[in-house]
Amino acid sequence: MPHDDLMDTGGAGFAERLLEVIDSGRRTATYKLALLLALLDLCALRSDADGRAPTDLTTRDLAEQVASLYWPQVAPFRREGWSDAPYLRQIRNNRSLIVDAVRKFRAEVEPAGATSLWIARQRFASEYGKTIDRIECKLAEEPLPRLQTVGTSETVFPFIYDLGPGWGANQHFSVKRLRSHGPKGPVVPLLPGAGDELVRLSPLIRPLVELHWTRMVAQLNRVATGEEDLRRHLFGAPRIAPSKMLRDELRDLQANRCFYCDERLDGLTDVDHFIPRVRSANDAIENLVLADRSCNRDKSDLLAAPSFVVHWAERNRGQAEALAMIAEMSATESDREGTMAVARSIYAHLPPDGTPMWEGRKQVVRADPELALAAME
Ligand SMILES: [Zn+2]
Repeated sequence: MPHDDLMDTGGAGFAERLLEVIDSGRRTATYKLALLLALLDLCALRSDADGRAPTDLTTRDLAEQVASLYWPQVAPFRREGWSDAPYLRQIRNNRSLIVDAVRKFRAEVEPAGATSLWIARQRFASEYGKTIDRIECKLAEEPLPRLQTVGTSETVFPFIYDLGPGWGANQHFSVKRLRSHGPKGPVVPLLPGAGDELVRLSPLIRPLVELHWTRMVAQLNRVATGEEDLRRHLFGAPRIAPSKMLRDELRDLQANRCFYCDERLDGLTDVDHFIPRVRSANDAIENLVLADRSCNRDKSDLLAAPSFVVHWAERNRGQAEALAMIAEMSATESDREGTMAVARSIYAHLPPDGTPMWEGRKQVVRADPELALAAME
């Protein structure tokens, strides 16, 4: 009896394929996981004015995103109570082109004052470009054509993107070949609906990818350490706490009031990620607000309700220059466009009737994400 009518070509089948990529036991490096996270991030970052995911990505964009994932990971792994601080392997064999490229770049620019990849990209543009070239070549040769194979088969079953001919085993990608497609390299065409599906599933997929990635690195390096320590090193917020200057400037900007409850900031304060870091690893100034500790702790990993989104979008619009100036002074990233694109993308993919949002201390509500979207137009 034919069961075609029962086949689900959308959500469930897509999710199943994603899980398969994440759970693939024969993995020898973390590159596929990095590529998958890069795809998730870019689908949010490059969303359109309505928050819809793009239909195309490029190898250049993917390479830059992969570099930003490895940047914190190539630092020595320091643990409390341990005298050694090893560099962590990300691949079984000895050649690790992508990670080595990021590590080399970081080792060159960090002593010269580049405390983040964002600063490194501005101040060392040429070296940054060469680093991304290397990563882009490697991505095009290895994980990109192979991400969508199943089991031990070499056959590609596209479900996220379809590269077409000219990719895969024995294909060599030089910088020249990549640039012959344009400054951003070859287009990676996403299959219809795939980008939006990635964004929608991202709250489930991201923590899973991080977990598998952490376990693989633990295994590769035989680090005797709590999984949480390692995970924080690989994916946590930057080790460097927000500087006093950043805190003070945000305090001035908010007239010494909590961003959320508007009470005076007399006690302990926290720099809060408006879009929670579990949703998007965005440390740009536009995503940072100053809150009293009790608001920050209570909000935790919840999305803010539309009333706060209105307030936040207004701040980012109305105080754009002041924010950019604070970013410059405190060596913090500034990316208003990207920050708002990610926020739009997240709210646009929430179920219309469902997601609990934070509306103040001890207040969680079911709000219409459309109200948040309207504020960000
Ligand atoms: Zn507050």
